[in-house]
Amino acid sequence: MREELDNRLCADFPHLFVRRHVADSRMNAGFCCGDGWYTLIHGLCRSLQHRIDHHGEPQLHVIQVKEKLGQLRFYVDCPEGEITNAQHAVIEMAELLSGATCEECGCPGRRVSNGGWLSVRCRLHEPEGSVSLEEAMAAKNERRAQRQAVWQDQAPWLLPEETKDDDA
Ligand SMILES: [Zn+2]
Repeated sequence: MREELDNRLCADFPHLFVRRHVADSRMNAGFCCGDGWYTLIHGLCRSLQHRIDHHGEPQLHVIQVKEKLGQLRFYVDCPEGEITNAQHAVIEMAELLSGATCEECGCPGRRVSNGGWLSVRCRLHEPEGSVSLEEAMAAKNERRAQRQAVWQDQAPWLLPEETKDDDA
């Protein structure tokens, strides 16, 4: 995420991002995701901090923010108390929404696979040659079936029990 947006998140939510510039914190690496998720992360933080300030929920410290397998991962620590179910739910909601939010621009997008790399992109920002997650999974299953057919045909005794064809 670009520096300007990073700075704005830290300025708007200083208690959540108290570890942003602590040397041995993973948060020191910054927000390891694209600018398109800025609004989503900002809304998540606003909701969390509002509940902390006005509904007596314990203060959270964010320890890592990153993209993983085409989804936002937002890791927190709760130094004084225990994270509440409501806080968990708010974070999970944002993580789910990220799976349909283009990481480049924030428009509605879908999870795509590009040479095995998963990401969320709108039509405009989809890398050339990428396929939907469903298409990628179908292709992977097809390749597995083809490999198994080779074993089945040439060396069926080497196939693990559960993958042997019952009809053979
Ligand atoms: Zn986009």
